[in-house]
Amino acid sequence: MPTVRLPKGDVLEVADGASVADVANQIGSGLARAAVAARLNGKLVDLGTVIGPGGPHDFEILTDQSDEALSILRHSTAHIMAAAVLRLYGPGVKFGIGPSIEDGFYYDFDLPERLTEEALPRLEAEMAKIIAAGEAFRREEVSIQAATALMEKTGQAYKVELLKDIAAAAIRREEIKEAEAKPEASAAVSLYRCGEFVDLCRGPHVPHAGKVPAFKLLGVAGSYWRGDSTRPMLQRIYGTAFFSKKALETHLAQVEEAKRRDHRRIGKDLDLFSFHDEGPGFAFLHPGGMVVLNEILAFWREVHEAAGYAEVRTPMILSQDLWLRSGHWDHYRAAMYFTEIDEAAYAVKPMNCPGGLLIYLNRPHSYREFPIRMAELGLVHRHEKSGVLHGLLRVRQFTQDDAHIFCLPEQLQGEVVGVIELVDRIYRTFGFEDVRVELSTRPEHSIGTDEMWDHATAALRGALEARGVPYKVNEGEGAFYAPKIDYHIRDCLGRSWQCGTIQVDLAMPERFGLAYVGSDNREHRPAMIHRAILGSIERFLGILIEHYGGDFPLWLAPVQAAVLPVSDRTSEYGGRTAQALRKAGLRLELDDSSDKISAKIRRASIRKIPYMLVVGEKEAAAGTVSVRDKARGDLGAESVEAFLGRAREEIVARRLRPKSTGSA
Ligand SMILES: [Zn+2]
Ligand SMILES: [Zn+2]
Repeated sequence: MPTVRLPKGDVLEVADGASVADVANQIGSGLARAAVAARLNGKLVDLGTVIGPGGPHDFEILTDQSDEALSILRHSTAHIMAAAVLRLYGPGVKFGIGPSIEDGFYYDFDLPERLTEEALPRLEAEMAKIIAAGEAFRREEVSIQAATALMEKTGQAYKVELLKDIAAAAIRREEIKEAEAKPEASAAVSLYRCGEFVDLCRGPHVPHAGKVPAFKLLGVAGSYWRGDSTRPMLQRIYGTAFFSKKALETHLAQVEEAKRRDHRRIGKDLDLFSFHDEGPGFAFLHPGGMVVLNEILAFWREVHEAAGYAEVRTPMILSQDLWLRSGHWDHYRAAMYFTEIDEAAYAVKPMNCPGGLLIYLNRPHSYREFPIRMAELGLVHRHEKSGVLHGLLRVRQFTQDDAHIFCLPEQLQGEVVGVIELVDRIYRTFGFEDVRVELSTRPEHSIGTDEMWDHATAALRGALEARGVPYKVNEGEGAFYAPKIDYHIRDCLGRSWQCGTIQVDLAMPERFGLAYVGSDNREHRPAMIHRAILGSIERFLGILIEHYGGDFPLWLAPVQAAVLPVSDRTSEYGGRTAQALRKAGLRLELDDSSDKISAKIRRASIRKIPYMLVVGEKEAAAGTVSVRDKARGDLGAESVEAFLGRAREEIVARRLRPKSTGSA
């Protein structure tokens, strides 16, 4: 009898000819109900796949709880959408490809008519019919020739092209096999049928359309066949699917919330920054944006100074020779900008490291100076393709909160611990509590000796463990010159951002011949750490805007309070109050327009000013202000000094704002 080995190692005997679904049933009816597909000997397969003779075959059921099952569901829904398109738009439709993507799926179509979003409800209704009918996904294995004949007959030119590529790859494999004298049966491909629609596809899929509990079509966009602008423009329909209506609704609500919090929109509303055609990918920071940025940097400098860092600044343009020496020319040239000075070749720095190294090399060093912690808020330029630019989140010029630490090899772990503590402190202050840490180890192609890698990796691992930081190991995913720790922070919408990184460099100290004089009076190589905590400050500003939804904590808010006189009769008192608070150091605005107080409150609220200080005749007579907190609502009247004390305390503690109670 055939056998399978389950994930925990148990070996199970199964009936001859048993399918994946049969085995799931044999294990338990609950598992069978939740089963979507399986992994059989490392390959994803359908529930209908037969286990095959012999064994034990490695076997794992994928239930609706796994990420892979979600991709399978979404990809299956793409087939269902294609089947609906075929029904509605007829046999003239030519099909491109329809993969699952992050958060959903798409399918590309060559259609006789131009689709708009208005076409989507009708398409959804047709898909619902296919789902209600529970149309099966039927797999068929045929020769490449047979598949090509079928696709040619139905005019599926794009599929024929894909089959040609598959055939060419199969011939190449055959040639290799022949050279190795291992003949194999001629290549086959799989077709999947769902309703009237037949697709060339590797699978797997859900067993039938009835297994799609919740889906939604999201939009239409143009897309070149194979991303090639010389090929035909197809119409791409996007959608998503989930294993429950509730999960779909939560996701759609999150997408709406993300739109509401889009930093590009809030940046415009609050007049923080802009982008212009004259500088694509280069952010223009307005006065309000600069206030936030400078507050971030002041905090950054304060904690770095306390942690024993000294700040440096290195030039933005350095000779091409230097970049050849650092290895950036070989590995990073495509993302660099070049220029010329006095007919010699120069490059605009994409990273700060070589500059930092020149400072180190400027004079001899003794072991007594170590550790040397050299921080740099370095403005770097990296070429990004215009298609991927995205507000502040993807730019071509940004400030990296970089630092290089030079130390004795035996100080390495302690230095990494120090960086980890600093990272904790900084992320916590901005309100990021949900942080994922990953340790990436030596990749296949790398420089340096085993001994160097072992020492450096042990230092990173030891530091994480000493601090009790949970982490995931990415085996073999380090840089070719360094093992590293990466930090991913999760924002309030559950999105993850890679910001911080700590790398132990095994290449640069060698390449640049770094040295120090040890206690033995001889020259040695120092250890070197590169680290960034916020990553790109501009990008971090974008992340913060979305994380806070524009409601900055008081210490970061571009305008911290607005004085709002109720009428002309109190504008003089309002003016005096504003003046006093400004003098005391608050960023303050006075709205002495002739608008009604309700309009003034609304305006300040839209601009997300944390405190509104309403002054009417009663307040003027008593020398008080009526404090309205944007998040908590009315706090009642208090003296100007009392408000100042409240605000100062909140700023000094860098307190996060309470969650908004609604209306404001
Ligand atoms: Zn498929
Ligand atoms: Zn560096």
